[in-house]
Amino acid sequence: MSLLGSLHLINARLPLAEGSPAQLYELTAANGFWQSVNPQQEHGIIRDHGSIPLEDVQLACSTSASRTIDLGGKMLLPGLVEAHAHLDKAFTSGIVRNDSGTLGEAIRNYSAAIPQFTREALVARIHKAALRAAAGGATAIRSHVHFPFEHGREAAFRLVHAALEARELLSGIVDIQYVLFVPSRGHTPAMWEAVDEAMQAGMDAVGGAPHIADEPEAYLERLFAIARKYNKDVDLHADETDDPQVQTVSAIATATIRNDYQGKVVVGHLCSLSAIEESRAAAIIDNMALAQLKVITLPATNLYLQGRGDKGLVRRGVTRVKELMAAGIPVATASDNVQDPFHPYGSGDLLQIGLLTGYAVQMGSADDAHTLLRMLSTIPASLIGLKQYGIKPGLPARFVVFDAQSPIELFAELPMNRWIYRDTRWLYHSRQLSEWIQHTEEVGF
Ligand SMILES: [Zn+2]
Repeated sequence: MSLLGSLHLINARLPLAEGSPAQLYELTAANGFWQSVNPQQEHGIIRDHGSIPLEDVQLACSTSASRTIDLGGKMLLPGLVEAHAHLDKAFTSGIVRNDSGTLGEAIRNYSAAIPQFTREALVARIHKAALRAAAGGATAIRSHVHFPFEHGREAAFRLVHAALEARELLSGIVDIQYVLFVPSRGHTPAMWEAVDEAMQAGMDAVGGAPHIADEPEAYLERLFAIARKYNKDVDLHADETDDPQVQTVSAIATATIRNDYQGKVVVGHLCSLSAIEESRAAAIIDNMALAQLKVITLPATNLYLQGRGDKGLVRRGVTRVKELMAAGIPVATASDNVQDPFHPYGSGDLLQIGLLTGYAVQMGSADDAHTLLRMLSTIPASLIGLKQYGIKPGLPARFVVFDAQSPIELFAELPMNRWIYRDTRWLYHSRQLSEWIQHTEEVGF
């Protein structure tokens, strides 16, 4: 058997495993799957003189004999999970402006720019954004696909087909799910027909933004009908506004129960949930728990766009993460926008988002850092329904090693070094980082 398909690792820390964080593990994989995952008997790092350090893994790849790889106590995860991205919008901040820094201007200007986007440019941007996320350690991404039917059928399907083409290019590197972002307005029979067609083309979930729809409840019913027809999950942008009067999440909870869709609906943002008083928020959160809604907080974009009309104490737009979690609602954190008119910063690195969430939600203890790590890994994996995510025998050998010994160190240091392995090969490691990113630039930019 070749070396690349046969793997023996020692001194791995598994921060998502049950038990003591000090426990180190020995793991083996072959033919693309984990064979064994065992706690090491000895306390602390064990020495194996035949082994090579992870830093020298390139040397191991070039030799014919299988060598044990020593992780030296570094953290091994089944990858981070980007549960809410807009790959097709990423890296457009140089060509689409947002002078006021408001959500309204971002939506208007982006929509106006759509006709100038060629399919090639869209594919290149999606490809680059997904590779950046993968280089940061994401093994799966869920992205919302813009469907600009206001510019006609051709423009709308240009986005869908670009997304599908990019996913094909990225197979074997990172898993991608797509949510069709069904327009909130301008509904015509031709648009609904096109939505049907787009779902059939390969979309994985149905999405949209009920809080900006003319008739949120009728729109929601339509989205649930599509989801039921294709047996797909629903993933909505919800209440991305400071306006305390806007609480469409209540209508989403009601529609979820009416459609018997408990546990299959994700809601992102929920900014205005933070803008109302405690008792009203508590009642809404109770309803959300009843409907088994799942939540994604998107602090980067919300901190940047929300509270733009406020003076002095500016509202931050980040939802009630701690209260939602206390009610038993799973909450993930994700990137949303990267270098586009909605959010000018970010690089697709989910560790940055973890750190930002730590600030925005005021989470800084060792336990909090562990929760932040789960908000970027196991929780989003469950939210988007990943079936083969984890480190245990029988699951695909897909993992990322981070150069940190604990979650708190991970978010404090944001270590640049990440080693990424998928099935039977190292996709890349620290020494190749700059080369890989450069290659992605050459592909489309
Ligand atoms: Zn979004």
